[in-house]
Amino acid sequence: MNNKNVDRRVFLGTVGTVGISASLANINNAFGAGQPQTTGTETNKPADPNDVKTQQEQAALLVPKRELGKTGVKVSTLGLGMMYNVVDNQIILRSALRYGVTFWDTASSYGGGNSELGIGNFFQANPEERKNVFLASKASGANSVARIDERLKQSFERLKTNYIDLYEYPHGLSNPSQLSDDVKKWAENAKKNNQIKYFGFSAHSNQAALLEAAAKLGWIDVIMFSYNYRLAQDSALQKAIDAAYKAKIGLVAMKAAGSASSAREGGRGWRGGREQPAAAESTESQKLNEQLLARGFTQIQAAIKLVMDDQRISCVNVGMDNVPILTANVAASLDKNKLTAEEQQAFRQYALATCSGYCAGCSQICDSALQQKSYVSDIMRSLMYYNSYGREDMAREVFAQIPSDVRSNLLRIDYSTAEARCPQQIPIRNYIAEAFEKLA
Ligand code: SF4
Repeated sequence: MNNKNVDRRVFLGTVGTVGISASLANINNAFGAGQPQTTGTETNKPADPNDVKTQQEQAALLVPKRELGKTGVKVSTLGLGMMYNVVDNQIILRSALRYGVTFWDTASSYGGGNSELGIGNFFQANPEERKNVFLASKASGANSVARIDERLKQSFERLKTNYIDLYEYPHGLSNPSQLSDDVKKWAENAKKNNQIKYFGFSAHSNQAALLEAAAKLGWIDVIMFSYNYRLAQDSALQKAIDAAYKAKIGLVAMKAAGSASSAREGGRGWRGGREQPAAAESTESQKLNEQLLARGFTQIQAAIKLVMDDQRISCVNVGMDNVPILTANVAASLDKNKLTAEEQQAFRQYALATCSGYCAGCSQICDSALQQKSYVSDIMRSLMYYNSYGREDMAREVFAQIPSDVRSNLLRIDYSTAEARCPQQIPIRNYIAEAFEKLA
């Protein structure tokens, strides 16, 4: 069987029945990375690797692997993000393995602990699969080395495993100073004791500074960070990715779909109570989708492929909570066609036209304008979970992590200086008010 033909057939089969209107409706919709709500029909499924005869044929239907920096481990270029209750969703794990999605991402806080518990149930029932999975978890909410220990112990119990391939602390690094000598020592000990294989951190904001700092440290194995067609425009972040890549840090991208914080199309957002997207946004998204669909891509698939095409990125970790979404993204990963320069340009134009709904996480700008730690990027992220992912639980969790004394003051702050400096031209105060309305 010709691999190239398999890939193209599989991919085209996947997107063939997804129309423009469906794609438009799904731009910022649904869980994880704004995933398309595919229908689950046969045409949305890549060929099943279990249905072919030879190993060569099977290999062509598995998501490709890429080396994860200095770890030397080859991980699947598509990762399974599980920010939800996996106890009730065991089928997603079996399906992920079937298609070679072996990078599994969880955290002690995901699904209120039920993400780790569900993965643990799977390993208990299928112990032979543990070695086939590259398992990543995070010490959510830990603020000291002692707390990291507590979280790790809890993760072992829930996950029914005695090692974690990649352990991340902090879960959401905001300041390089948090990567202290104590943390370094903790990571070295945990590795020596075979509790973890590799150590890293995750980040959503201030990312350029964090990646630059990590590149100089020499003891960070992996960084999981937000990266998509919007953030790809940031030259400081590009330079920092280069530095981290050169330092052989394994780079895992998340939030690859570039979902916005603004209310989903048809939703009720701060936009003056209008229930339709701004005209510019609608026109730009239609233009982008028409261009992509002419080539057989949905916007979400193309956005994931854009990040995957970047060879510095080892894995694109996507929140996927159902099998049709998983298989659509598997098909995108299997397709070997790269986005053209015109398609990349269309993404750039779309990013520009819709920038005021997307927080780039440059919290240093907000903090310096407001002369305090502002939590604006966290609030914007909580709204992204609420409005784009439809995940009220995650939105409330992120919002609740803001210290209560800060929260109670947020509506009294004058955001005009921050709004004037914001490179995304975000009407910050409106979003803060929306977050209070929805999440307080
Ligand atoms: S609101 Fe603007 S300045 Fe503040 S973090 Fe977001 S993008 Fe940066």
